[in-house]
Amino acid sequence: MKRSNSTHIFFGILVLLFSVILYWKSNSRRGDSPPPPDSTPASVKKDPATRILDFDVPDENPSGEDPPDRSKLRTWIEQFGRATVLRDNRTRLRLKQSAPKIDRSDLPWLFSLLSDPLYLSAGTAELLKMYRLPEAIGPLVRMIQGSATLSAKGVAIEALAVIGGDSAGEALIRLLSTHSDTGIRARAATALGRFHGPEAHRALVDALRSESNSIVRRYIGAALQQLSSPEMVEVLLATMPNEPDATVVAELAIATYQSGGESALPRIREILNRRPAARQKLQDWIDLQEGNWYRNEYPKNFFDSDQQPVPFYPRQSRIGITLDQGSSGFPGSIAPLFRTSPLDRYRDFFYLRLEKEWLEDLASGTRSPRAYRVDGSPIPGGMPINDLDGTVHLRFVAGKEFSPGILGFTEGNKAAVTSTSLLHEFGHALAELADEYNHELAKNAGGANVDFPDEEPKWDPLIRQGHLGNPVSRRDRVIPSNNCYMNNHPSDNRWCPVCQLALIAKICRLSDAPVPW
Ligand SMILES: [Zn+2]
Repeated sequence: MKRSNSTHIFFGILVLLFSVILYWKSNSRRGDSPPPPDSTPASVKKDPATRILDFDVPDENPSGEDPPDRSKLRTWIEQFGRATVLRDNRTRLRLKQSAPKIDRSDLPWLFSLLSDPLYLSAGTAELLKMYRLPEAIGPLVRMIQGSATLSAKGVAIEALAVIGGDSAGEALIRLLSTHSDTGIRARAATALGRFHGPEAHRALVDALRSESNSIVRRYIGAALQQLSSPEMVEVLLATMPNEPDATVVAELAIATYQSGGESALPRIREILNRRPAARQKLQDWIDLQEGNWYRNEYPKNFFDSDQQPVPFYPRQSRIGITLDQGSSGFPGSIAPLFRTSPLDRYRDFFYLRLEKEWLEDLASGTRSPRAYRVDGSPIPGGMPINDLDGTVHLRFVAGKEFSPGILGFTEGNKAAVTSTSLLHEFGHALAELADEYNHELAKNAGGANVDFPDEEPKWDPLIRQGHLGNPVSRRDRVIPSNNCYMNNHPSDNRWCPVCQLALIAKICRLSDAPVPW
């Protein structure tokens, strides 16, 4: 490639980066980075002062009465901690809406709960995060340095980021630079991405130079993108050529552009010209944006089941599905997912955990809980705890037992969810696909698989290539076809090509599988 061409291409790539980042961050990082700290519940957002002033009411127990009954609060904390560990976002949302009021006199008791290894400490850290109490920083740091599980410590690290301020920032910098656990260092890096002072930026760059673990360096690179600091441009440019990991170089290219703007571009391009793998990584991120799926010509059978499996390599990541199997049979209950295109070609990119075993193993402190391949065979030695655990959490319920509370079971879906709606719900849960069925409660806005009528649908190239017919009307939208699982008819027999591309893109983002277009 001539240099002028490549420069032109890089200019295009880098100009697109902001939109890539916005899209990428909103869609992809459930696994690549620790989950972002939760927003404060609506009731706290509306009127934080009222909630905070609850603490100013003296409660010194002057009457000498018995201490307040905290059993209800404890139950809430335990349930919230459990839902957090399971990434059961529906239950978390429901519990947040009934977040208990706490009082200053509760604090010593709450801090004592942080010594629990799992649910109570995770739930308490969540509660302290909601209230953003600076007094909690010391107890949270002691918890992170103690023997709680990594899941619970992760919540405490997020809480430090949400509480903010100099002491929280200093505590996170110490964790990033000195803690022996890579999971803690990675989470501390992500948390520091929320601190906009020069100290956080400097600490992240320093850690990048001294950090030997490439996964942690990726978190640092991602965190640096959250910060913009013109005075760090030279340091970032000096760091990039020495970075061995291509993904980190790509992350740093984005971070440097954000800090240095157009004037940094020539030097960023110069470095990227010597690092084709990092260039490719940037190109992959651009290709994985929704509009860019349609640039490719797909072979006639691309969307059929039984295609050649995509090989899995150790440098890639597997995506975790946590199952509450109920009375359904394991692994038969999950089998239909992996008989269907495109998941059938990505079988090796997924692993399963059974909720009951997962929680038992976490509570026992093992770092490598039990796990299964998608055919149900146990993975010898289990799978180390990682950020893709529970990417999808599926709860099988029988007949009319449907209850909300599980990621992947749609809000507004009135049908009792059984094994028959597994594929439909999985489409929502993994790729945020919209409902394609015709119902007033259908969730039909925002997904890749719905568009507005009266204009060329965004998937028009697939129509021109013969993979789809004309769009089908659905209320005030159009959908790609009438027999995709996202329609939720009993007669549906495939994920449509649009939904398949969305699923493949999500798998590629999470696992680093090669982009097939
Ligand atoms: Zn579809």
